[in-house]
Amino acid sequence: MNQHTLPKVAYFCMEYGLDPSFHIYAGGLGILAGDYLKAAKEYDMPVIGVGIRWRQGYTHQEIGQDLKPYDIFYDYEYDFLKDTGVKVTVQVHNRQVICKVWKVDAFGNAPLYLLDTYLPENENSWITGQLYGRMGEERIAQEIVLGIGGVKALKAMGIQPDVYHFNEGHAVLAGFELIRQNMAAGMSFDKALEAARDKIVFTTHTPVIEGNESHPLNQMMYMGANNTLSYEQLYAIGGSPFNMTVAALRLSRISNAVSQLHCQTANDMWKHVSNRSEIIGITNGIHIPTWVDNNMLLAAEGHGDLWECHMINKMKLIRFIKEKTGVILDPDVLLIGFGRRATAYKRHDLIFRDPNIIFPLLRDKKLQIVFSGKAHPLDNVGKEIITNIVKISKQFPESVVFLENYDMNIGRLLTRGADVWLNNPRRPMEACGTSGMKAAMNGVLNLSILDGWWAEACEHGVNGWQFGDGFTHPSPAIQDSHDSKALYQVLLDEVIPTYYHNRQKWIDMMRNSILSTKDRFNIKRMMDEYFSRMYFKNSQTDRSCKKISI
Ligand SMILES: *Cc1c(COP(=O)(O)O)cnc(C)c1O
Repeated sequence: MNQHTLPKVAYFCMEYGLDPSFHIYAGGLGILAGDYLKAAKEYDMPVIGVGIRWRQGYTHQEIGQDLKPYDIFYDYEYDFLKDTGVKVTVQVHNRQVICKVWKVDAFGNAPLYLLDTYLPENENSWITGQLYGRMGEERIAQEIVLGIGGVKALKAMGIQPDVYHFNEGHAVLAGFELIRQNMAAGMSFDKALEAARDKIVFTTHTPVIEGNESHPLNQMMYMGANNTLSYEQLYAIGGSPFNMTVAALRLSRISNAVSQLHCQTANDMWKHVSNRSEIIGITNGIHIPTWVDNNMLLAAEGHGDLWECHMINKMKLIRFIKEKTGVILDPDVLLIGFGRRATAYKRHDLIFRDPNIIFPLLRDKKLQIVFSGKAHPLDNVGKEIITNIVKISKQFPESVVFLENYDMNIGRLLTRGADVWLNNPRRPMEACGTSGMKAAMNGVLNLSILDGWWAEACEHGVNGWQFGDGFTHPSPAIQDSHDSKALYQVLLDEVIPTYYHNRQKWIDMMRNSILSTKDRFNIKRMMDEYFSRMYFKNSQTDRSCKKISI
């Protein structure tokens, strides 16, 4: 592709995970966005990012004396933010809110423009305070800043994108601003919608219904999110209550799901939505220089000793754990890593369902498990999950560890230093799961339910293991019981014996893991697909979800 004929893309996202020191991300959505901007810079692709300069960002979460997670919010200052000199104004309810625009390019990333309301002249400076704080008016105000403010900021800077890419539904109000501008130029609503749609593409993420945000139409109108559109026009776009994902599907010319299995799930989930864009499957990828130890890549290709390189990473993790918790893990004992947001469907405690099986393994030091993950500040079920894990870590202080305040740094250490990466969501709730890709490319063997990306990557016993055979059941109790039994079977019959009695096979599997994933799940491949299948208009793309054999 010739760089000069490529469409120019503005990528909108609520969060960006560029660096552990830059607290404007919460989890996987932001990591994907951060990795994408780094790849765009590395390959000189015409992509810029639009987001929010969060004052406090997401929760800093620590475990208290009572073993419960506590949320702490710090105000962060950064010296790498560049002042663009641009300010734009958005209306939130009956107030004008000024948004200052910063530019960030300090992390080997394509330009990222961040809106900030934390200014002395704003009464509503709190809007850009906390990432994913409260639903309702606070969230709508934040979405006004991201979407409406974001489009105005690009215009004020003289940037004219060919494509507006909404990463998640949070950005749909950008569509309203494009419609408003078209109508101000004389178009009817229908024509203005059509013209806006022609420039918008959308990536849908979570298959968890509650993760697909909606707001009462009256509240949208009250907050001024309608941006001059009428109640009926809002209803036509997002339904009632106004669903952000439905709206994004109707405001875009094409959409994508983030893995091939998620493509099937998402098409099923949104099949009742009329006038929506088609959802194709473009599996996520990761930015390899950020997440993968280059020595492991080299060793997998025959330049170096895979096991020695892995043990260096395992020791780094073990040292970190000692510093943070005082616990000294044994480098010769199998180490399972589990790093995920603590929420019910991810089932952090699945492996503890049968204490008769798992406790002896922990007591006899056959197995060590390191957990990390934050719960959303308002998710009490997630917080109980964490407390439960912390309690078990007190019971087995030499073999179970919980690392508080999961972040990019812990993610990096865990996906390099564990021997096995465990993933057991209640299927098919995991849209993709990029942490498993990080592990796979570091020679950390995936032991995972066939969900998200693993359904298309797994060669059982060759580059990792699956368990559960893709079983799904409407009753969570039946599914959990089935999956925990399947987990124990693979763990006891395959993972543990291979680790302790067939090291050569283990090392072969590490090599296979790296070699079978490093190109397919490189974010470069995802970016190329974004351009060829989404950004180029009228590109002849295959619209069907790729078949996966489960
Ligand atoms: C990679 C990463 C994620 C995304 O991983 P999932 O597999 O989607 O859970 C989330 N948080 C952090 C800190 C990460 O490094």
